[in-house]
Amino acid sequence: NLEVGIVGLPNVGKSTLFNAITKAGAEAANYPFCTIEPNVGVVDVPDNRLAVLAEMFGSKRILPAAMRFVDIAGLVEGASKGEGLGNKFLSHIRQVDAIAQVIRCFDDPNITHVSGSIDPIRDIEIINTELCLADLESVEKRKQRIEKIAKSGDKDARAELPLLERIIEGLGEAKPVRAQGLEEEELEMIKELTLLTAKPSLYVANISEDEVSDYSSNEYVKRVEEYAKNEGAGIVVVSARIESEIAELSDEESAAFLEDLGLEESGLTKLIKASYALLGLINYFTAGEMEARAWTIVNGTKAPQAAGKIHSDIEKGFIRAEIVSFDDLQACGSQNAAKEKGLVRLEGKDYVMKDGDVTHFRFNV
Ligand code: GDP
Repeated sequence: NLEVGIVGLPNVGKSTLFNAITKAGAEAANYPFCTIEPNVGVVDVPDNRLAVLAEMFGSKRILPAAMRFVDIAGLVEGASKGEGLGNKFLSHIRQVDAIAQVIRCFDDPNITHVSGSIDPIRDIEIINTELCLADLESVEKRKQRIEKIAKSGDKDARAELPLLERIIEGLGEAKPVRAQGLEEEELEMIKELTLLTAKPSLYVANISEDEVSDYSSNEYVKRVEEYAKNEGAGIVVVSARIESEIAELSDEESAAFLEDLGLEESGLTKLIKASYALLGLINYFTAGEMEARAWTIVNGTKAPQAAGKIHSDIEKGFIRAEIVSFDDLQACGSQNAAKEKGLVRLEGKDYVMKDGDVTHFRFNV
């Protein structure tokens, strides 16, 4: 299960957003094998195509893909030096696949800001500096080790040393590794360091509930947008307050509420979609009488490994995948009609799965 860590300074709306996530939470019954800790929220990944499949196949239930959000409280200025929850915080954040940083973009004289004023870029830089400092420590440790190995003439170590020096220089200027323009193979070399600032990141601009319908005049958001663009991070604009209200509503009620606000989807849905895009994730489907189900894979995954998401035996015994794209299937109206038109293909072990592939795997047991 993919995991997004929520970070941010105190009083920016993290808990409000996280509560909305847990309240909107996926049905626990769908995930009987996950023990869920208090700081973890599991949400369904919304995908309208599932309902269409369930209708077509007469499926008894729908199983959407899931995404985990972890509330990583305790990041304050000085965390890398052990302030606040310090190191405990950093070990949590090391385990997540992506980082969502909540930024306060609302004015409210009743809610104090830790630094006394609202300034989203300053806030981003406080957090990023802490993360850079933590990474700096990891890379410097690595450099000391690699230096020793390089002295004994090891080629790989010699090749890595200048890379580490370059990264150290960047981090020293508080430049996140993800914004340092490293090559694919360079990133591969430092992969095992699980650097915090190398993780895909997005900014969650938390705006006032009065502005959700139209935030075009919110200058804070504009600044965050500009900042995110320059460092290749994503941005999602939400109002945590509104999200926590939506989380209390039934599906019909929340649809009506969103329509009233003139919104197509909730902030949470936007956040999930943005996280999916950030992590390069796509869905493929399986559908039958039992269930219509979405499976999460990384874009570029081949058919046998995609099958492995269902069960390792299907990956091991993989023969072929019978695949029709969701769009073709929907246009034809049924699996049989799609077959008659020759739109159901048999794909082999080198087939790269596409988003929306409706799949039936054939395998040896
Ligand atoms: P955390 O410390 O980052 O977890 O922040 P909280 O979620 O506890 O929020 C701090 C305060 O800001 C609380 O009083 C929230 O009700 C308030 N808050 C959060 N989001 C919004 C928002 O969108 N608008 C307004 N006006 N207040 C908000």
